[in-house]
Amino acid sequence: MMTNTDSQPNTDQPLGTFDVIVVGAGFAGATVARELAERGGRKVVVLERRDQVGGNAYDRLADNGVLIHEFGPHIFHTADERVFNYLSRFTSWNGYSHEVLADVFGTYLPVPFNKVSLRVAFGAERGEELIAKLIDRFGDGAKVPISELRREADADLNEIADYVWNNVFLHYTTKQWGKSAEQIDPSVTARVPVFISEDCRYFTDPYQGLPTDGYTAAFERLLDHPGITVRTGVDAKSVLDLSQDGAVLIDGEPFGGTIIYTGPLDELFGYRFGRLPYRSLDFVFETYDVDQWQPRGTINYTVSEDYTRITEFKHLTRQVVPGTTTIVREFSKEYDPEDGDDPYYPEVNDQAQAMHAGYLELAASLPAFHAVGRLAEYRYYNMDATVAKALDLADRLLEESK
Ligand SMILES: Cc1cc2nc3c(=O)[nH]c(=O)nc-3n(C[C@H](O)[C@H](O)[C@H](O)COP(=O)(O)OP(=O)(O)OC[C@H]3O[C@@H](n4cnc5c(N)ncnc54)[C@H](O)[C@@H]3O)c2cc1C
Repeated sequence: MMTNTDSQPNTDQPLGTFDVIVVGAGFAGATVARELAERGGRKVVVLERRDQVGGNAYDRLADNGVLIHEFGPHIFHTADERVFNYLSRFTSWNGYSHEVLADVFGTYLPVPFNKVSLRVAFGAERGEELIAKLIDRFGDGAKVPISELRREADADLNEIADYVWNNVFLHYTTKQWGKSAEQIDPSVTARVPVFISEDCRYFTDPYQGLPTDGYTAAFERLLDHPGITVRTGVDAKSVLDLSQDGAVLIDGEPFGGTIIYTGPLDELFGYRFGRLPYRSLDFVFETYDVDQWQPRGTINYTVSEDYTRITEFKHLTRQVVPGTTTIVREFSKEYDPEDGDDPYYPEVNDQAQAMHAGYLELAASLPAFHAVGRLAEYRYYNMDATVAKALDLADRLLEESK
């Protein structure tokens, strides 16, 4: 059952009487809350400024009954057995393996670029010749960065690298980051791989899929514990008073408990050192009266269009809803909080790192204050990495309090 409501009713218990205040009900906050309540016996309150839990993984039923991901398509994948087993307490998985196609002037090529892509791009015969060369040089099953193919003395191998760069990588990446080809970090280019394989899965992690009845339902179970109170629609900035350096006041009194903060640190500290740069996204949802809109979960538009990609949710969720489907187009843009944008991808550079380090120092000066998660740590984390960080933090806090 998908709901938009709190997993616990709001109560009037004063915040200062809880052992732990968690800011943010995404994967980071919800995981730490559960661990501290369940293993540590703490009374935890989770403050979430949105009207629902789940952070960016929040999903809900659209009017046509299709389960959509409000903040962009989320596919869970991991090689971390601890994280997988942990989350499996709160959900089963639908077994979906993500596949992505690149639309190259109307022709679909699997991404990452592989043997199947080579045959489509170069024709069956030439494709087989190129595959044979790749196998001969690198071995079947290898993942070869295009930078390595470029360094080869063989013109055919150079041509594969050029094809992938021009048709799969360049335009998509410039759209994504709002940069020109020259501004793209060469180390990113170096990692673009050609996969000498027939395997068309986008992720090759041993565990992947989506929660069978959705992320929001999984979050509601994760947060459903007698030691956890969830308050949605509450911005922590309105209750945490940081006006006295080195202290957090709540209702005018220093807070004696633990604070787990998963929001942006620059915002918390009033942008004292400036704004951390991010890319944001506009999501444009569209519904069509057809069973299926596109042949795979995601199509990347790698040589044309203003949007970066289109995702059709029914592929991901494996939902059967005849005669209707919902897609989302993603338009990448600069992040402007004044415009109500959400910060999605940190634009990490030396200056931003230094600024973030300054905010971390301020955070470290507060008693029992812990910053964790993609926003607070100013890092792009996948969901599994976020949960791993949250579990590590909970372990450390529980160990320290023994
Ligand atoms: C477009 C997109 C697609 C993605 N796809 C994938 C994918 O396919 N697979 C994958 O593994 N990962 C994916 N991710 C990454 C995934 O979204 C993150 O790993 C995950 O959301 C991190 O969880 P979090 O708790 O750190 O942050 P969030 O999910 O952002 O949660 C933080 C929460 O804190 C709340 N908050 C912030 N400040 C305050 C405040 N002052 N008061 C109260 N509440 C506050 C926010 O409202 C939010 O709900 C994707 C990310 C994006 C942007």
